[in-house]
Amino acid sequence: MKKQKILFVDHVGVIGGAELCLFDISRYYSSHSSVLLFEDGPFREKLEKNNIHVIVFPLSKNVLQVRKESHFVFDLLVIPNIIKTTFRIRKIIAKHDIIYANTQKSLILVAFFSVFFRKKLIFHLHDKLNAEHFSFLHRKIVTIIANLTCSDIIVNSKSTANSFSDNGGNDKKTKLIYNGIDPEQFQKIEIADIIKEKQKLGLSNQWIIGCFSRIAPWKGQHLLLEALPSLPNCTAIFVGDALFGEEAEYFNRLKEITREKGLNERVHFLGFKSDIALLMKICNVIVHTSIVAEPFGRVIVEAMMAKVPVIASNEGGVKEIIEHGKSGLLFKPGDSSDMVGMIKKILEDEQRSHEVVNNAYNWAIKKFSVLGMIENLKNHIFHF
Ligand code: UDP
Repeated sequence: MKKQKILFVDHVGVIGGAELCLFDISRYYSSHSSVLLFEDGPFREKLEKNNIHVIVFPLSKNVLQVRKESHFVFDLLVIPNIIKTTFRIRKIIAKHDIIYANTQKSLILVAFFSVFFRKKLIFHLHDKLNAEHFSFLHRKIVTIIANLTCSDIIVNSKSTANSFSDNGGNDKKTKLIYNGIDPEQFQKIEIADIIKEKQKLGLSNQWIIGCFSRIAPWKGQHLLLEALPSLPNCTAIFVGDALFGEEAEYFNRLKEITREKGLNERVHFLGFKSDIALLMKICNVIVHTSIVAEPFGRVIVEAMMAKVPVIASNEGGVKEIIEHGKSGLLFKPGDSSDMVGMIKKILEDEQRSHEVVNNAYNWAIKKFSVLGMIENLKNHIFHF
């Protein structure tokens, strides 16, 4: 049987969780698919390095900049640009059998011609459609378009699925497929690599707390800075960068807090790293600090696969990954002193930490592997 051609579509050029998930999927289907991006950047480079065919179709800045806080009139002003782009990509859509929109903006851009050319349209919803992130108008538009045009809507957690149906989304179309992570990247790291990396960073004689995430106010990195004065033997490493314009301000604020609290010696901002495995393995504990409910939280699964105890904010999709006390610890969202308590519990009780890490590893391998994710896609979405 002739394999159907898939067009994966994503609107950003930077690398976030949704893009890493798409990377694994498009890599599996690379012999008969292309990835259409609306912005050039490191994501295009990563895909091409792995022989995945990419088409970059730069979108005007004002469409990329539509955010929750943008004014209603601003949203309306971008409509002509959206229509123009929609028309310009119609020939690309026509050449494929299945269109797979990996972000909300890309869904809006491909929906019309996918229906017009009678293509199967799949939408992968990686975000919780909540008021903290998206305006009412935005949530309604996305939900209505998804209901009307998509054959399948993949959600990355039950929490994301609920947010979709709360906005009127058709839950008969949703399919829960958790993100998969490749465990091999962690398994191949030797103890000697870990020792060397610690020496390189000058972090051989202290507890290391890792925080891996793009820098953004809702990711709550400030909580760890608030916690550090109560954790005198610990050093924090922050891995990740401010990906979108307005997040740079928050990054500056984090650096200011570090100076104000006299934490310069114990805080390391390492920026975005394309390979996080070794940095995770040098940590004694990894914290996930989001102050708004996460849709999923790939970092948590990665920590589990790295065999590092993970402590996370008790909200959203995180609760589907961690069972408190068994495969990690959960703290009250936004409460840095509760987080301190959990960090101490893990660091001071080696036996418990060991048990948690083993449970977490087995659970993550069973539930969140890349192979499992691909198997689910083959069985429930693509059927090849
Ligand atoms: N990540 C990375 N380099 C960094 C920081 C983060 O590769 O410097 C990865 C991280 O390992 C994870 C993803 O970015 O796989 C973030 O996904 P998550 O679901 O945790 O959050 P999102 O960015 O999607 O909100």
